[in-house]
Amino acid sequence: MSAWPQISSTRSALTQVDKLAETARRAFVPDDGALPVRQACQAARVSVDSRPLSVGRHRHTAMLVPTNNGFHATVDSAIWEGARHDDWGRHRLRFVLAHELGHTLFYRPGKPPTRSYPPDRLEERFCHNFANSLLVPPSAARNAPLEPDGLFSLARRYDVSRRVAAWAVARARPSIVLLWLRHAPHPVRGGFETMRVDWGAASERFIAQGESLKSSLVALKPGQHGKATEMLRLAGREDMVHINAWRFPNAMLVVLEPAEHHSSMSEPVAQQIQLF
Ligand SMILES: [Zn+2]
Repeated sequence: MSAWPQISSTRSALTQVDKLAETARRAFVPDDGALPVRQACQAARVSVDSRPLSVGRHRHTAMLVPTNNGFHATVDSAIWEGARHDDWGRHRLRFVLAHELGHTLFYRPGKPPTRSYPPDRLEERFCHNFANSLLVPPSAARNAPLEPDGLFSLARRYDVSRRVAAWAVARARPSIVLLWLRHAPHPVRGGFETMRVDWGAASERFIAQGESLKSSLVALKPGQHGKATEMLRLAGREDMVHINAWRFPNAMLVVLEPAEHHSSMSEPVAQQIQLF
């Protein structure tokens, strides 16, 4: 009997994401560590290879095709090569394959497996979230301390990128926003150099790459940790937030939590602590 879970109804797939991912994880990682993606692919009867997946100027990361023996996943060769190269590339390949494993759940068993209806955006969202929960269990993300070591050790423990670990935290704690910033001009429009979003993790809003952080904490120096409660404009919304920022030599981690009491709007309080 296969250890791979079955979706009960594809129409309400999104509500089952975490349960399905947990069932799948439990079969492979009894000690709650990193998911052995190769074993998960075998259980889902997905064989894997790589080749260039360029269509015109568009590059696709991967595609999944049903076969008489289950499925075949083809990963873009640039991602495959990247995985040989460094951890960043390997983490990317792990996530891409975990995403494709999510798509298998939308097929009815058969030789070959068949779909009930064509793929849509909800299915893509399901697969993104499924990959995230399959790699990083939501319970661990919920309990991770909201500071650099909490995020970095979550990423190390589950063998994922810091970004995937941050997504898991933002999904497990929807009020939290995590930002990874770099001192850079705007990626498309150019513009002045300041602390700009390299990536953001938020479950309730989309944070565009290149957005500048409009906080007093952008002035932190490498090695400093700062805290402030400020009215912050981000992703087209203005909110009173508690901001925690840690400045590294080339980047900054920012954690935003909603400030409950809007009466404390008076003066932003910036507190700076030397980290090293
Ligand atoms: Zn997909």
